[in-house]
Amino acid sequence: MNPKQPVPQEIKTESLASQILLYKELYYLGRAAISDEAYDELENQLRRLDPNHPALSFVGYKLKDSAAKVLHRPLMLSLAKSYEPSDLATFAAGRDLVLSDKVDGMALSLEYDFSGRLFRASTRGNGQLGEDVTRHVMHVLSLPKHLQFELIGSVRFEVRGEMYFPTGEFPRFSERFDSYRNAVPGTFGRKEVDEAIDVLNVLRFRAYDVLAFCKQNDVTAEHVLLNADEFSRVLGKTYFEKLKWMERLGFDTGLPEGTTQLISGQHQMDALAETALAAFKQNRDHQIDGLVLRLNDEMLFEALGATSHHPRGSLAFKQESEVAITEILQIETSIGRSGKMTFRAQVKPVQLSGAVISYATLHNAEFIRTGGYAPGALVRITRSGEVIPSIIGLEKPAEKEFQFPQTCPCGYLLTASGPDLYCSQSISCAPKDQESLLYFVQTLEIIGLSEKTTTKLRETGLLKTPADLFTLRVEDVIQLEGFALKSAVNLVAAIQAKKKIPLATFLASLGLKRGGIVKCREVAARFSTLDRVLAATADELSQEKGWAEKSTADFLESLQMRRPWIDELLKHVSVVEDTSLQERASFAGHPLFEKNICITGALSQPREIYVRKLETVGAKVVSSVSSKTHYLVCNEESGSSKFVQAKKLGIPVMSEAELNTMLSSAPTE
Ligand SMILES: [Zn+2]
Repeated sequence: MNPKQPVPQEIKTESLASQILLYKELYYLGRAAISDEAYDELENQLRRLDPNHPALSFVGYKLKDSAAKVLHRPLMLSLAKSYEPSDLATFAAGRDLVLSDKVDGMALSLEYDFSGRLFRASTRGNGQLGEDVTRHVMHVLSLPKHLQFELIGSVRFEVRGEMYFPTGEFPRFSERFDSYRNAVPGTFGRKEVDEAIDVLNVLRFRAYDVLAFCKQNDVTAEHVLLNADEFSRVLGKTYFEKLKWMERLGFDTGLPEGTTQLISGQHQMDALAETALAAFKQNRDHQIDGLVLRLNDEMLFEALGATSHHPRGSLAFKQESEVAITEILQIETSIGRSGKMTFRAQVKPVQLSGAVISYATLHNAEFIRTGGYAPGALVRITRSGEVIPSIIGLEKPAEKEFQFPQTCPCGYLLTASGPDLYCSQSISCAPKDQESLLYFVQTLEIIGLSEKTTTKLRETGLLKTPADLFTLRVEDVIQLEGFALKSAVNLVAAIQAKKKIPLATFLASLGLKRGGIVKCREVAARFSTLDRVLAATADELSQEKGWAEKSTADFLESLQMRRPWIDELLKHVSVVEDTSLQERASFAGHPLFEKNICITGALSQPREIYVRKLETVGAKVVSSVSSKTHYLVCNEESGSSKFVQAKKLGIPVMSEAELNTMLSSAPTE
């Protein structure tokens, strides 16, 4: 084709559509390759060329054939979106509304049976058919698995909401996910649930709707959805009452002192949107991608009905991100621990959302190629909640295309896989090893050894492999910028204090494929010594619960790859049996040691926080009250079955405050 000729429109349309479908699919597989803004920009371009293109009307993604499917009845719809503050007043029209923050997570449906037990969970999917993720959801500690309510037996409930990753927990898992946004779909997209338990444990759920079903009659098994009128006789006429009721069942709804509030439609809506968004963005444990307004009158909400895409009784308000235009100075590349090449653009410094920006993410090779990004190009950048801004569009192309590197800095060829480029050398790629080295240091948690210091040690050549750490001398460290005698002595001492490494930590620090800390703990518990782990065969390993053949092969292969590191390390450190049992024994004098504790009702902090605290002092958290239970933790005297049972059995009930006092008491010798 003559390059001077403009690209025919249909080719441009199809190229945009195929990109949109690719990115959509990657997103739902938990491997989002571009930012929301960049994605929206592609959709906008396609919309201008062909507003009715089928790629635009796709709500979700193609379902993978292997997973069990769940039919949503009624459909799980999206929300109507607006970026115009003036739309809010039109929508409100003086009516009562419930205002809440729009949690940036993944929509899920949770179905409870007539006895109140959670029996099925599913993703939104394409709105009509979702994927069954019941096995995953059972590990989410913050979710009620068994509802206690007065109408048990006559109705069953389906609760819908957003599953999200608490931002405070993310740093612990940042090695495992490309970004915060990918973590939830990535975790639910995995078939091997056992390998994701630690992630699932910390996930949170924001409930935003509840549906009630009853049996039509005793003969047919068909369950009928209660309409708003019938529902109002059971649980109230308003959306706010619905939320309060879900709150009592143990769901987080953004109430009571959270972000959800009842407001009157007479409010100055545009001013309200601005202050609410600003307030919601502060001190939250989740990312927010806007506000949601919903009519409080449930009958009216139902009467308004829905389009094929969204209900008419609610509206999402999103803020247009601030955008700046600047020039790409150069495109920098680096190789991550997985061998994947990442790209970032150094840009001419520019003001954006109150900060001076000099770097922006470029996502992946495909994004750079199709977007035409290259040094000299003028680009639009935005910063949306993320710390590092991303490039969302081309303003003026550069004179020359970007020349992609052909090889990794280690010398081996780069190969393409999906939208990414990877180093083809998996065994001794030096840049990749650098990342692994940092991972080793982080896993050992050496006091005073920050990422910055590690980088300095690497740059000065003092740290080439993990074993080099243990031969560092005070006189080496003191030469590093920022170190004085005292800090150098402290660092060397802190490193020397780590010369006895528990087996599980040792294995985890090697950054083996499929070798997260949970897996490594299992292996350590089973094989006890490093020699035995090194001698283990695929057969022996795969006897472990939840180890698929592929995981076993990956684990063993990467363990072999790390043999040179291991052999060097063993000259300096000793790998010891896991001490967590001894650590636990040190709590033997604690008043809660080996006590069975049951928790019920609402607490001021997430339940999993207490579960973890209790386990740390050697207590066991149990799910029901029996004669073997030592304490029931419950904030108010309620009619809940656990409370009644505890009273009947004479089991002491303590409040959250009393629990905290006990938790903080020191073990008696
Ligand atoms: Zn390489």
